Amino acid sequence: MDFRSDTVTKPTDNMRKAMADAIVGDDVYGDDPTVNDLENWAAERHGFEAALFTTSGTQANLLALMSHCERGDEYLCGQQAHNYKFEAGGAAVLGSIQPQPIENNPDGTLDFAKLKAAIKPDDSHFARTKLLSLENTINGKVLPMSYLEEARQFVNEHNLALHLDGARVYNAAVALNVDVAEIAKHFDSMTICLSKGLAAPIGSLLLGNKAFIAKAHRLRKMVGGGMRQAGILAAAGKLALTEQVEQIKTDHVNAKLLARKLSELPGFNVNPDFVQTNIVFAKLDPQVNIDSIAEKLKADGITISPGNPVRFVTHKDVSDSDVIALANNIKKYL
Ligand SMILES: *Cc1c(COP(=O)(O)O)cnc(C)c1O
Repeated sequence: MDFRSDTVTKPTDNMRKAMADAIVGDDVYGDDPTVNDLENWAAERHGFEAALFTTSGTQANLLALMSHCERGDEYLCGQQAHNYKFEAGGAAVLGSIQPQPIENNPDGTLDFAKLKAAIKPDDSHFARTKLLSLENTINGKVLPMSYLEEARQFVNEHNLALHLDGARVYNAAVALNVDVAEIAKHFDSMTICLSKGLAAPIGSLLLGNKAFIAKAHRLRKMVGGGMRQAGILAAAGKLALTEQVEQIKTDHVNAKLLARKLSELPGFNVNPDFVQTNIVFAKLDPQVNIDSIAEKLKADGITISPGNPVRFVTHKDVSDSDVIALANNIKKYL
């Protein structure tokens, strides 16, 4: 029972079978029919002209930032954005692109007045502001649809491109009960992680227009992401998008259940009403020794990431009874 992340999900039996049976070729030559099928299908499905299969979400974000921005350009993003905080500074290191982070509001949004104030004038003192990068879901929170519309208006007004780090965009779509294309339509580019709650073993997608994806394709080669018989992975990736989206509903129900159970424990501060998707954060009172609890849970076959707040993630490989076992065992060790 591993509650650290939805990245721990194992491929389904159908995925393993599809991987074994996948027709493959050398994708660097464009010869892998299974990769080509995934890219064409995903582009159409999400309302973009083209798509690129990448090794990871980090790579997909890096290619997006480097395709939108040149050396000396900058992108606006959240202080908590994955592509600012958790990607080893790749945009700066490899793209010579300057991040301009803005403090996220409690709901994950970025304030438009603050964004506007951060846009640099056209003057040789400054980096050139080119892009706004949003994230949905962000720390398990869903950006409101009305906010996405406002973001589109904002970038149009200021002549910026708009990128979505949609690692968990399907969690957002399921939580809002909208088609994922309704979220995607506001963006010039979007990433999707296939290897989180959607359970593929490896891989992400980058979506955008043809010229953008052509640029990203060259950059993917540059960073060593040109893969050969990658259809083995793309076969699982397609099933992630066609067979695993339904599972996300269950993951969200289980996250609520976990939040409810944790909220009954002394020293655990969590409001189940604030849990929108598959991620639960609990703020701990000082008397809770989460490291010691994590140690004891390990002996029960339960893995968590200790921290304060402590984060739990639900996914297809933990059931509702696993959630109850987690809460009961924490209670026992408190
Ligand atoms: C996981 C994640 C990524 C990166 O994906 P990897 O495949 O782990 O590199 C990017 N953005 C967000 C929001 C994520 O949660």
